[in-house]
Amino acid sequence: MIIMKTDATTEEVAEVVKEIKKYGLRADVSKGSYRTVIGLVGDESKVSFEHFATLPGVKEARMVEVPYKLISREYSKQFESEEIERAVVRVGDIEIGGERPVFIAGPCAVEGHEQLLRIAEEAKEAGAHILRGGIFKPRSSVHSFQGLGSIGWEEAREALSWMREAGERFNLATVTEIRGEEQVDLAAEYVDMLQIGTRNMYNQDLLTKVARTGKPILFKRHFGAGIEEFLSFAEYIAAEGNKNIVLCERGILPVGKGKNYTRYTLDLGAVPTIQKETYLPVIVDPSHATGRRDLIFSMSCAAVAAGASGLMIEVHYNPAEALVDAQQAIMPDELREIVDVCREIHRLTRAHGNEKNQGKAGG
Ligand code: PEP
Ligand code: MN
Repeated sequence: MIIMKTDATTEEVAEVVKEIKKYGLRADVSKGSYRTVIGLVGDESKVSFEHFATLPGVKEARMVEVPYKLISREYSKQFESEEIERAVVRVGDIEIGGERPVFIAGPCAVEGHEQLLRIAEEAKEAGAHILRGGIFKPRSSVHSFQGLGSIGWEEAREALSWMREAGERFNLATVTEIRGEEQVDLAAEYVDMLQIGTRNMYNQDLLTKVARTGKPILFKRHFGAGIEEFLSFAEYIAAEGNKNIVLCERGILPVGKGKNYTRYTLDLGAVPTIQKETYLPVIVDPSHATGRRDLIFSMSCAAVAAGASGLMIEVHYNPAEALVDAQQAIMPDELREIVDVCREIHRLTRAHGNEKNQGKAGG
C-alpha cells in the first residue's frame, strides 16, 4: 500500500501508478476525502517498498499483512480522515450498510410468471426491499429442478425479464445467482445485483467476470470456508475495481456425527468478526443456514442483533408447492413480523453503539 501525502498532486499519483505497472502489477487507486492510497494488485514479492517511499508525493509505502488488503479496515483508514464504519453499497435505490436493515426476499427458484409476481407483491407489502429469485440453481442432484435458466437461453431470458418486471412493478431492486461465466452478461442486463452462491465462492474466474460488470455483488461464504479465506476471495472482486460487495454469511458445515437438526450451522460470530476486518456490509441468510422455517424468525433477530446490515430470506405464498427448498420458505406474513421486529432490534443495537464498537475495537 502506497500512502500519498495529503497534498500530493494528480501527476505524482500518476507517476506512482506508472512505477507499479513497471513491476507488472495493477494499481488500485482509492481517493478518499482525506488523501489517496494506492494498493498494489498482484504478486508484490519483488517490489521495493523503499524505492516507492522515495517518490515525490509519497508519505509512506508498506505491506498490508492481510491477504484481503483492498477491503480491509487498515486500507480504508488511510484515505478517510474519519474511519468509515460501514461502506454503503447501493442496489438500485436501496442502500445496504446504511441507516436501515435491508430485507431481501423471494422464492428460492423462479418457477413461473404468476408465482414470481405474486411473491414479489406480497414480499413488498411485508417490507422487503430487494427481490431474490434463482434462475440458474446450483443443485446437488442432476435429477432435480435446475432453474428455468438451465432449460435454455430463451427460458433464461424470459425468467430474467419477469424479475425485471416484478422489480419495476413493485418498486423492488432485484438479485439473482450466477452459476457460470456464460450467464453473467445476460443476467447483468436484467437485474440490479449479481449473487455468487456458496459453491462458487472459490471460482476466481467467475468472480473476476461478475466484478467487471460493475454491478453490486452479493458474495456468499462457502460452507467450508474460514473467514480469512472468505475475505481473500472477496478481494478478487475488489481487485477488479468493484468494491460494491455485500458479504453474506449463510451457514457452515455442521460438526459431529449425529443429527444436527439444521441444514448448516449459522456462524453468527462471523458477522461482527468480519465487520472488524472489513468495511464492507455483511448480511445473513437464515434460510439456507437452518433449512427450517420454524427457525427463521429467531435466527433473523439474532443476526440483526449481531450487527447484520440485512437479511436474505426465502418467501413463498404457499411454501409446500415450492419446487426447491420448500421446507425453509416462510409466508409473507411471517416476513412482515421479522421486518418489524428486526427494525426495532437494529435501532436498539445501533443506539447502543453496536456498529461503532464493531468498527473501532479489535481488528
Ligand atoms: C441461494 O441463495 O439460492 C442459494 C443457493 O444459496 P447458497 O449458495 O448459500 O446455498
Ligand atoms: Mn434455496
